Amino acid sequence: MASVLKLQNFINGEFVDCDEEMESVDPSTGAVNATLPDSGQKEVDAAVAAAVAAYPAWSSLPCEKRAQYMLKVADLLESQLEEFAEAESRDQGKPVWLTRVMDIPRAVLNFRHFANTTPHMLGTSKVLPGSSTVNYTVREPIGVAGLISPWNLPLYLLTFKLAPALMSGNTVVAKPSELTSVTAYMLCKLFVEAGVPAGVLNMVLGRGPTAGSALTLHPDVPLLSFTGSTVTGARIATSAAPLFKKLSLEMGGKNAAIVYEDCDLDATVPQLIKSAFINQGQVCLCTSRIFVHESIYQEFLTRFVSAARSQKVGDPSSKEVFLGALNSAPHLAKVRGCVGKALAEGGVVRCGETVDELVLPEANAKGFFMAPTVITDMADTAACMTEEIFGPVTCVTSFSGESEVLRRANNTRFGLCAAVFTADLSRAHRTAQALQVGTVWTNCWLVRDLDLPFGGVKESGVGREGTHESWDFYTQQKTICMKI
Ligand code: NAD
Repeated sequence: MASVLKLQNFINGEFVDCDEEMESVDPSTGAVNATLPDSGQKEVDAAVAAAVAAYPAWSSLPCEKRAQYMLKVADLLESQLEEFAEAESRDQGKPVWLTRVMDIPRAVLNFRHFANTTPHMLGTSKVLPGSSTVNYTVREPIGVAGLISPWNLPLYLLTFKLAPALMSGNTVVAKPSELTSVTAYMLCKLFVEAGVPAGVLNMVLGRGPTAGSALTLHPDVPLLSFTGSTVTGARIATSAAPLFKKLSLEMGGKNAAIVYEDCDLDATVPQLIKSAFINQGQVCLCTSRIFVHESIYQEFLTRFVSAARSQKVGDPSSKEVFLGALNSAPHLAKVRGCVGKALAEGGVVRCGETVDELVLPEANAKGFFMAPTVITDMADTAACMTEEIFGPVTCVTSFSGESEVLRRANNTRFGLCAAVFTADLSRAHRTAQALQVGTVWTNCWLVRDLDLPFGGVKESGVGREGTHESWDFYTQQKTICMKI
């Protein structure tokens, strides 16, 4: 049996205990995986004080010097990729092959990318004709950045905030999800090893309504970057608004895929299996509504259901497994509840939950597993078609025309991303331009380039992250006008 890890807060360069503790579990067995601080106001106050004290020196360093620290952290992380990959899989429930090829390498890339690009970001200047003045802008960091991240891509999403925040010269207090804090804690050890000065990064572990809320409301934290659910995002926005904090919100989705009749089905079906079920459907970008042209609906459904049914579910350490465990028992219950609701609303479950029996290894009998589930015959207004499920469940429906499908795909309060499958380039462009989302993938899914802006519209988000966008967010501009 794996031993229980003891996590601590990381404040002012020291690992410190907290009066209150809580537990987090290995989702694949249900056994306790770690104990962690159940931090509150006192711990957040100490972390913010350390970040405030570290700010003058860190923000005055040349950008290239900060880059050296970040590149060192990246090298150390890469050298311990296997330990981090295994820890992330045990803490989160996803297959270890996935953390090896995605979560941890992407975290390494986050540090390298922002270390290499930020030093080249420039301000602007303008000579005002006839005024004998020259105007230029300087970019300044903002102060202490509060970073709040979710459990679905723990280290990857944390470092997507951390790297640009630190490279811009801010100091940081981060609060990862209480359900997945292990790799965030391990990362702090790398910061010590890399020699990053004390107080530059502080990690406060604990729950959202206590530690997260204390960070959100702290008067010495002028900037908050949040990734998580729309409900929590709305709470954070409500508390932060009267304090005039700079805010970035990356939130939930109800992402559509549009499958036109001229698409290459051989390529489309595997893409959609991935986009519906990778990470047990717990990626904010996962596809949960698939609109298929009526002329190919039956053929698509037969192939898609058969492919979904053939995905192996079980022990995350197995190379053959495509779906590991969902992250927690309450989350599994919520996702199962969505399937129950779909049945009550007239949906037909084609495979997965309630239809197929899940056979699991003995060691995983108490884990939070669920088979990939495909639901059809739902009205567009049904809960399964309108609410974020965030699990291995996707709905398939048919359409007959382009304007109809665009209206239906856009008929949601969310607007994170969409995918379009067609051989007709003009139609692909038309569709992409009409979709009300932050990102559209055409004949592919989840191809990410950190240079390009990422974020959502409507209730999926406020703001964008990416090379330029993160620079904009984590800095503020000052205009200086000189008489010459
Ligand atoms: P969540 O909102 O429950 O929690 C996210 C983080 O916020 C956690 O660290 C949590 O402790 C903290 N938190 C909770 N309540 C808080 C409060 N009152 N004040 C301050 N902090 C608080 O989300 P989750 O369940 O961890 O993650 C899943 C959600 O995240 C899904 O909705 C998913 O779509 C979304 N998500 C969005 C993106 C994106 O880029 N748009 C990426 C990943 C996940």
